[in-house]
Amino acid sequence: MPTPRQNARITWLKGADFPCAPFPAPQTRPRRLVLLGAPGIGKGTQAELLAKKFGSCQLSTGDVFRMAKRAPDEEKTPAIREALEFMKAGKLVPDTTVVALVEERKPCLRCSGGFLLDGFPRTVFQAEELDRILRQEHLALDAVLSYDLAEAKILDRVSGRRVCSKCKVSYHVKDHPPKVDGVCDRCGGPLYQREDDRPETVHVRMETYWHSTEPLIEHYQKKGLLVHIECGETPEETFARTLAALKVGA
Ligand code: AMP
Repeated sequence: MPTPRQNARITWLKGADFPCAPFPAPQTRPRRLVLLGAPGIGKGTQAELLAKKFGSCQLSTGDVFRMAKRAPDEEKTPAIREALEFMKAGKLVPDTTVVALVEERKPCLRCSGGFLLDGFPRTVFQAEELDRILRQEHLALDAVLSYDLAEAKILDRVSGRRVCSKCKVSYHVKDHPPKVDGVCDRCGGPLYQREDDRPETVHVRMETYWHSTEPLIEHYQKKGLLVHIECGETPEETFARTLAALKVGA
C-alpha cells in the first residue's frame, strides 16, 4: 500500500485522473520550490530529501518521460513517441509537450504540502509558462534552488550513477555503492544505468543545459527568488546546506 506521499508522486506520474490520497497535515507551511542544476548534480536526491522533510509532492518531468518509455507501444501517443526520441538523444523535449504535461497535472501543484519541481522548467519559455500557470492557480514560488558543482565532478557523478528500476533510488558505483553489487539496498530491485547517462549522451545534455537552462538563473534572479547552493561531497552535506539556505532547522 503506498504511503500518501508516495501516492501523490504516483498521481503526478500516472496522470491527473489517478486518485491521490490526501496528505497528512503538513508539519510546516507548504513549500513551493524549483530545483535547478546541471544533469547529474543530485537534484533528484535533494528533491526526495526535501519532500520527506516538508511533505511536499516531488514532481520530475524526467521521471514522467522515463515512465512513459516503459508503457506498451499502443499506449504511447504520437507526442510521447516524439518526446522519447528527443530524450534518447539527450536533447530537450519540445516545450509545448512538456508544458501540456504539467498543465494536465495542475492538481498536483495544489498539494497541501507544496511541490518540488525537479527538471522543470528547463527553458525561459517553460519558466514563463510556469509563471502563468501559478498565477492562474493563485500560487507563488517560495524559492528557486540553484545547485552548483564543477563540471568534471558532475561528469564523474553522471557516469557512475546507477538507479533502482523499481523504487528509483540513486547510487554511485564509487561514492555511494549498494551493499550488494547491482541490487537496491532499499527494495532489492535491480540497478541500471539510465540510457541518457551513457557517455555518448551526457555531453549533449551538458551542452543543452548551458545553452537552454542557464538563462533561467537570470529569470529567477530578477524575480528575487534565486538561492545558490554549492554542492557538498555527500548528499547529506548538500541537504544541510539547502536547509540552512532556506533557514530551516535540520
Ligand atoms: P532529467 O531526468 O530531468 O534529466 O530528464 C531526462 C530527459 O527528459 C531530459 O534529458 C529531456 O530529454 C527530458 N526532459 C525532462 N524534463 C524536461 C523539460 N522540462 N523540458 C524538456 N525536456 C525535458
